[in-house]
Formats: sequence, structure tokens, C-alpha cells
Amino acid sequence: MNRKKIEPDVRLLESDLMALTTDFLLSHGLNVPQAHSLARILVAAQRDGSWSHGLQRLPGTLDTMSHPRFNKQADPAPESVSAAAVRIDAQYGFSCLAAERGIEALVEKTKQIGIGLLAVKNGFHSTALWPLIERIAEAGLVGLSMNPTHAWVAPAGGTKGLLGTNPLAFAWPRKDKPPYVFDFATSAASRADIAMHRNCGEEIPDNWGVNAQGERTTDPAEVLAGAMLPFGGHKGSAIATLIELMAGPLIGDRTSRLSQDFDQGANAAPCHGELLLAFSPDIIGGADASDDAEAVFAGFSDQGARLPGDRRYRMREVSAREGIAVSSALLDRIRSLVR
Ligand code: NDP
Repeated sequence: MNRKKIEPDVRLLESDLMALTTDFLLSHGLNVPQAHSLARILVAAQRDGSWSHGLQRLPGTLDTMSHPRFNKQADPAPESVSAAAVRIDAQYGFSCLAAERGIEALVEKTKQIGIGLLAVKNGFHSTALWPLIERIAEAGLVGLSMNPTHAWVAPAGGTKGLLGTNPLAFAWPRKDKPPYVFDFATSAASRADIAMHRNCGEEIPDNWGVNAQGERTTDPAEVLAGAMLPFGGHKGSAIATLIELMAGPLIGDRTSRLSQDFDQGANAAPCHGELLLAFSPDIIGGADASDDAEAVFAGFSDQGARLPGDRRYRMREVSAREGIAVSSALLDRIRSLVR
């Protein structure tokens, strides 16, 4: 990835981008449900200005689909495990289709008993978490979502990759407003960001990672060959460990280290589990939950602070008015790869 190649310079209709993305995936043999599901997520990311997880991910899906275990025909179905828990096996396809299908069952259970858990297993994961967790909030529920990746991140005090970049996303529903949503990796910076700095010949801050000898470095190539560091020292390290355990052993799926072993040099997106939790503020918190939460959000704007998600929602409005911004170089590359 290179900054020049993803800097948007043209605007397209959402329907045109959906058609191009779907055509690309179908032309490489992906079945219709997976192609539509992945296209929805990637185009949503592009629309909201989450460019690191937008259309620039599309060429890389070819590496993922080339993994010997990747299943282009996966057609997952949710399975009820208990009153609160749903499990869905992504069948070694892209995890977003399984997550989308599982969320419907998760929402149903949570609306009945106030709490729900969705374990998505055996999915190749290459997307941002917010597009799907937003759906939980749109159903009036609070959502939490997390997954391991590959063992690229050293624990605080260590020097070797053990934990994943382990993203965490949270969503809270709001009346007549888009939900409060944050979504970020628990590493100091995402791996994509470090690779972008390397490709652009730029240095990185010295707290993003260490070289192969375990020394802090500002050279992004050395960090990619060494180990990344968690955000927030021991605190980020502990949260990344929580994600590693909750979305790994707890749901019977791979840790970041096992996911990396599974890759066997294919350079595919990490294959692992994903955990989504949902809570009903109406059932658990009662009548005041929403107003009390709004008072917290108002406290941000009162002092000029912005909420996570505000930038994306602004981008979404601009995209609806003017079309979705994309790099023409990236579009050319994608079109050249359609078979
Ligand atoms: P960032 O460090 O850029 O943080 C993004 C989050 O923080 C967003 O919710 C953003 O809101 C919010 N935010 C940023 N700046 C501010 C601010 N000044 N005030 C308030 N909120 C702010 O994210 P990362 O680079 O760590 O991760 C980017 C994406 O990568 C995520 O979507 C994540 O899911 C994805 N990812 C996926 C992985 C996977 O396994 N599939 C692995 C790692 C990352 P806003 O968007 O409105 O700016």
C-alpha cells in the first residue's frame, strides 16, 4: 500500500462501487452471498473515509482467497447454543457473512433476555469492525466486538510478537442520532499504518515497535520485521490479552499465534474467531439509561471534544451528497484485476 495509490481524487455513486466490488469478487469465484457481504463492508468503509479498510483491501483478497483452506463457497448458518449464545462457523470463508447472519440471531436473543453472545468461528477477517457493530446499535442494543489477528505485537515489557493487533469496537444506541461507536486496534498503530510509512519512506514514532533485537526504532521496516508494541503500555497489553483470550480460547478458536501458524506463508488475512456481545439497556438499565448516556455525550460537546464516529458520520453525509471519494489509481488497479 502506498499513500499516493489510495488518496481519493474522484467520486463515484455507491451503487457503482458496489457493482465493481461485487464483480471483482465474483469474477474470482467467490459465491454470491460472500461477495455481497464483503462488498457492503468495504464500500461502507470507503464511504465513511475509513480508507485503510476500504477498497484498497480488495486486491489483497486475492491472497486470502488463494489460501489452501479458503472456502469460496462458504454458506454459514447460525446455531443456537443456549438462551444467550449463538455460534456460527464461517466455514473458512470471509468472516463478515457469518457475522452478518449471526447478528440477526444475536439481536433476537438479546431482546428477549437482555444479554447475548455471538461466537463467529473459522473466518478470514480483513475488515473494520464498526460496520457490523453499528447494526447492533441500530437495533437499540449496546454492542462490543473483538478479535485476535496475528502474533505481531509484543506484550508490555517483552520484545517478541505474541499478541495480535486485536481490534476492539463498542457501540451505544442513540435516539434520532447515529450511535456512539469507537473501533481501533490495541497496538500503538495499525500494521497497515506502519506499512504505509515504510512505503512512503517516512519514520514512525519510537513507541510503535521494536527491531529484531528488541530495541525501539523509528524505522517502520525494522518494526515490521521485529515486533509492534501495544498502545498505553501495560494497560493496552492487558486489553489486547483480554481480546486474545475472549475471542480465542473462550470461543474455542485460534489465538493470534495459532492464526499466524495457520497462514503458512500464504499472506492471507488472519483466520480466527470473533466475539460479539450485546446488551439491552432497556431491559438491564431501565427507563433512565438513554437519558443518562446522553448527558455523558453532551459533556463532550460542552467542552469542545468530539465523539468517536463523528468524523465518519460527517464523511457519510458528504458521500451521500457528492458521491464516494476513491483513488482513480486504485480503481484502475481493481478494474485491471477483474477477470
Ligand atoms: P485509530 O487509532 O485511527 O482510531 C479510530 C477510532 O478512534 C475511531 O473510532 C475514530 O473515530 C476514533 N478517533 C480518532 N481520533 C479521534 C479523536 N480525536 N477524538 C475522538 N475519537 C477519535 O484506529 P486504528 O488505526 O487502530 O484502527 C483502524 C481500523 O482498523 C478499525 O476500524 C479496526 O477495526 C481496524 N482493524 C481491524 C483489524 C482486523 O483484525 N480486522 C485489526 C486491526 C485494526 P472516527 O472514525 O470518527 O475518526
